[in-house]
Amino acid sequence: KKRVYTFGNGSAEGRADMRELLGGKGANLAEMNLIGVPVPPGFTISTEVCTEYNELGYEKTVELLKDEVESAIAHIEKLTGTKFGDKNNPLLVSVRSGARASMPGMMDTILNLGLNDEVVDGLAQKTGNERFAWDSYRRFIQMYGDVVLGMKPESKEDADPFEEIMDKVKEEKGIELDTEFSVDDLKGLVVKFKDAVKKRTGKDFPTSSYDQLWGAIAAVFDSWSNARAVYYRRLNGIPDEWGTAVNVQAMVFGNMGNNSATGVAFTRDAATGENIFNGEYLINAQGEDVVAGIRTPQQITLEGSRRWARLQGISEEERAAKYPSLEETMPEIYKELFEVQEKLEKHYKDMQDLEFTIQEGKLWLLQTRNGKRTGAAMVKIAMDMYRDKLIDEKTALLRLEPSKLDELLHPVFDSLAVRSAKVLATGLPASPGAATGQIVFFADEADKYEQTILVRTETSPEDLEGMHVARGILTARGGMTSHAAVVARGMGKCCVSGAGNIKLDYHARTMTIGNRVYKEGDWISLNGSTGEVYEGKVETRKPDLSGDFGLVMELSDKFARMSVRTNADTPKDARIARDFGAKGIGLCRTEHMFFEGERIKAMREMILASTTEGRKKALAKLLPYQREDFEGILEAMAGYGVTIRLLDPPLHEFVPHQQATQKALAEEMGVTIEQIRNTVADLEEFNPMLGHRGCRLGITYPEITEMQTRAIIEAALNLKKKGVDARPEIMVPLVGTFKEFKMQAEVIHDTAKKVFEERGDKIDYLVGTMIEIPRAALVADQIAKEADFFSFGTNDLTQMTFGYSRDDAGKFLPVYLDKGVLKVDPFQVLDQEGVGQLIELGTKRGRSVKKELKVGICGEHGGEPSSVEFCHRTGLDYVSCSPYRVPIARLSAAQAAV
Ligand code: ADP
Ligand code: MG
Ligand code: MG
Repeated sequence: KKRVYTFGNGSAEGRADMRELLGGKGANLAEMNLIGVPVPPGFTISTEVCTEYNELGYEKTVELLKDEVESAIAHIEKLTGTKFGDKNNPLLVSVRSGARASMPGMMDTILNLGLNDEVVDGLAQKTGNERFAWDSYRRFIQMYGDVVLGMKPESKEDADPFEEIMDKVKEEKGIELDTEFSVDDLKGLVVKFKDAVKKRTGKDFPTSSYDQLWGAIAAVFDSWSNARAVYYRRLNGIPDEWGTAVNVQAMVFGNMGNNSATGVAFTRDAATGENIFNGEYLINAQGEDVVAGIRTPQQITLEGSRRWARLQGISEEERAAKYPSLEETMPEIYKELFEVQEKLEKHYKDMQDLEFTIQEGKLWLLQTRNGKRTGAAMVKIAMDMYRDKLIDEKTALLRLEPSKLDELLHPVFDSLAVRSAKVLATGLPASPGAATGQIVFFADEADKYEQTILVRTETSPEDLEGMHVARGILTARGGMTSHAAVVARGMGKCCVSGAGNIKLDYHARTMTIGNRVYKEGDWISLNGSTGEVYEGKVETRKPDLSGDFGLVMELSDKFARMSVRTNADTPKDARIARDFGAKGIGLCRTEHMFFEGERIKAMREMILASTTEGRKKALAKLLPYQREDFEGILEAMAGYGVTIRLLDPPLHEFVPHQQATQKALAEEMGVTIEQIRNTVADLEEFNPMLGHRGCRLGITYPEITEMQTRAIIEAALNLKKKGVDARPEIMVPLVGTFKEFKMQAEVIHDTAKKVFEERGDKIDYLVGTMIEIPRAALVADQIAKEADFFSFGTNDLTQMTFGYSRDDAGKFLPVYLDKGVLKVDPFQVLDQEGVGQLIELGTKRGRSVKKELKVGICGEHGGEPSSVEFCHRTGLDYVSCSPYRVPIARLSAAQAAV
């Protein structure tokens, strides 16, 4: 079996489409070689070896790989004319991780591997640059120490031991920047670093280059299982089995002086999607200096540089002198880089995020990948590329990640409110959106208040979880490609980075801007589209859904077979969903309508009545309320079907439990408080979810079904008179037997007939059922004889199929997910394997007796992309979901169909 794949000098054993085996980074390094982009030579150890390593352990894996790795090293030696471990002409390499899906900052990279006390002298002599050689050496020990030898501190309070040493030397010498260390300082640092390693680990720092290499390879494999990586995978649904590849690659140096540099670039704007080449670089720097936010990075293009300076309040003179663009400092290289980015985008037909290094006037590419982007940028880029005919309609649709559309649907700052808001500071518009919240300074405290803004000097991968929880992220340091910016864009979270005039005091938990001090818990607002930070809360308004978003929806409707309805209980929700393109209501719950104002009183009276007469009297009071509600909702969805579910929850949920309310009710009904109390106690159930609820209520008290039917039919007739096209569909909940459905359907039809006679007018209506009890799916062929439609209520169906109480699952589901009993929460993502069978079977049996039976789904799953795809495959007619998920479902339905 082949485990190692080499690349270099315009040829490669791998290709872009081998990302499963080589990881994204490795596959693209190979591909770049094949299309003539300059890439330092190297090799990739496949992801399969990661799995082997996890099974076999270190020793056996080294044995498996030894021959192939040694000959791959020889391959690099040949292409570079250097030798691994040779002190006169050394080969130095980087060891990099690379999973199938990019996991930014999750796995650790080691640079400058191959250095030791002798090689460093050789490197100094060969390059004539002693400072560079020693700087590279101290970085290597630092990275290797942290990543491989476990020198990284455990807790957030502890400083990195190497940084501590450096800070102390800086203090002694009275210097501030790493670049100010003299050669002797660096030599001193190396000695101190090695001592620190010896002291902490009890072992000497490895000097043999192969020992170093094997240690690094194993560390990359180990990092696949570190907590950060595991968390990221959870968050993004990446399976643990995939494993990471290891890339070993000849070093190129961006830190060899002023004609060397390193940087990252995007072929388009990752925040807005505009087709503007952009990025950041640092002269005389290596690797992650740009991303880490240690020095202020400079812009690649002149235009970008000017815009940046404006946002930072820096004059053009100061900008040109202190922060010139690459276009100005290295025009030739800039031109070459510009051409490379064009070539890469054309080749991959998607926005690319690239890493490059310039070594003494020569450009090298170190990575390219499809760039992370915000929801807005995702839509714009796909639609632009579609219009430019770079990709076709179907590809454009498949490019889009449905759940990311969500970012486009939420409020933005109201422009008037923004104009009058007090601007505290301005940073870079790192990730767009509007965020308002209370300040917190530590990622693990992001849940301290309901809405928080995480404020940090800079963020690191440890902060991931907190960044996810916070509404927005504000950093004092770091550019558009800093960790905070990249991660925030990936999450679709509002972020302002590099707001330089903010001073943080973590210890005091304060943020100072000018002479104003803000404390933890103070409210601020962030505008991720302009980089502005405002005092207090700022008003927001509805987003614009035309333009590119409209085009996406248009294309979706062209391809989708299923239609999308919404779950809505109020005219307001119905209208929101309609704006988002919902074609009908799949579930209108009536019980919420009973809680408002006066209604609850009449409802309680109905429940507590001891006779049918008493119940009817109370129901008569409820009728006008219900009719009014139904008129509102049927009108809001005029022209489309509205599925109204009859009363479903256990009655106990409506009765008063407090003494005072019980007393008032007793007075109103003219009974004693004891009678009320007894009835309340009577209604108490051991297991209300499996108790007296759903159609069981309508069967024991048919007058409830009568009243609700009357309200629905009368509402529809009233609307018809006004010229409104009302299309009610009455749904019987919690049916498990044919008889249950049949009896309720009879009550409904009888009542409708009566109302039609009274009014001398008619409308069309449907009567169907929710399939949410496993038995109903099994006897679907019987039920379908009488039913006009089925709607799978997958919340209850999941609850009853698994036997997990929805309300108590919080106690064990997290453990189940942690231990891998379940891969995902079945209440969020439809369990296709189990619950899915019931849906398939129910649909098939139902349609076996009624070919044109309308079938839909109305649980939470109706807006979850993988579940929507399942519904398409199973032949459902529609999915129904909450209003804000309608666009997501429309796109998912289209993706399932193309
Ligand atoms: P990440 O996935 O966190 O970006 P990378 O493996 O891409 O990790 O590398 C981290 C940094 O080191 C990047 O800036 C990259 O460009 C740089 N780097 C990696 N390999 C080399 C190399 N062979 N020569 C120079 N720089 C390198
Ligand atoms: Mg990288
Ligand atoms: Mg239900």
